Amino acid sequence: MMSRENLEHDSSRPGFPVYGKEQLPKVNAMRVAKSQPDFHGIPILHDQNVTYTSAEAMQQRPASCFTCALMNFDKTCMLMTEKITVDKVTIEGIEYWPRCAEFVPGEGNSGKRIQLTDQAPEQLGLIWINAAKPGQEYGGSNCGGCDGGDDCDHYMVESGEKWDNPQGQCRVLQHTVSCGDYCAAWWDDDILDWQEAQNQITNGNSETRKKKLARDIIGKDDGE
Ligand code: SF4
Ligand code: SF4
Repeated sequence: MMSRENLEHDSSRPGFPVYGKEQLPKVNAMRVAKSQPDFHGIPILHDQNVTYTSAEAMQQRPASCFTCALMNFDKTCMLMTEKITVDKVTIEGIEYWPRCAEFVPGEGNSGKRIQLTDQAPEQLGLIWINAAKPGQEYGGSNCGGCDGGDDCDHYMVESGEKWDNPQGQCRVLQHTVSCGDYCAAWWDDDILDWQEAQNQITNGNSETRKKKLARDIIGKDDGE
C-alpha cells in the first residue's frame, strides 16, 4: 500500500508528486493495466494518416501516375526499378490507369530519369484502375468517380450515382469529402493487380483473371 506521507514534492511543479522506490509497485501496476487490450473501438483515421488530397490540389484530375510528381517521362516511377512500367493498359476494351499509395499530385519529370528508392510494387500498393471508357484525357481514382475517375467503395451518398453527387460521406475518415478528392485508403473491388498489368505491357498478353480462373476451374477459357 502506497503512503502519501512518503511522497516528495517538486516545488517548481505544484501538485506533482515525485515517485520514489516505495511507489514503484503502483507505477508497475499502472503500466500492466495500460498494456491490456482496450475497448475504445476501431480507430478513426485522420486526413494526414491517409494523405488526403483535395480535388483542387489535383487540378480536378483523378489520382494516377499520369498526375503524379514522381512519374518519369519514360513511364517509370522514381520509387521503383525501371523494370516496372507505369503505363496505361487496355484489356478486352477496358482501359486501366496505374497508381500507388505514394501518389503525390503534380506533374511528372520530363528530364533525365530519376530513381530515389527501389521499392517493390507490393510495398507501394501499386494497382491499375479501370476507366469509364477508353481514351479519356485522365483516368485513375477519386472519391466519387467524377472528373473521369473511378469511385471509391468508401464514398457514401444518400441517393443517385456517386459521381452525380458533389459531396459524400467517407466511411474511413468519417467526414464529408468532395467527389473529386482522393486518399491512399481508396479502394474498389475490380482493380487490376500489378502483375497482370506488367504481363500485358511486357507480353501484350490479354489473358484476364476471369479467363485464367475459368481455365483453372473447368480446364478451358470462358467463351470457348
Ligand atoms: S507508382 Fe505511385 S509514386 Fe510512382 S508515379 Fe505512380 S502514383 Fe506516383
Ligand atoms: S471516399 Fe475513399 S478515396 Fe475518398 S477520402 Fe474516403 S477512403 Fe479516401
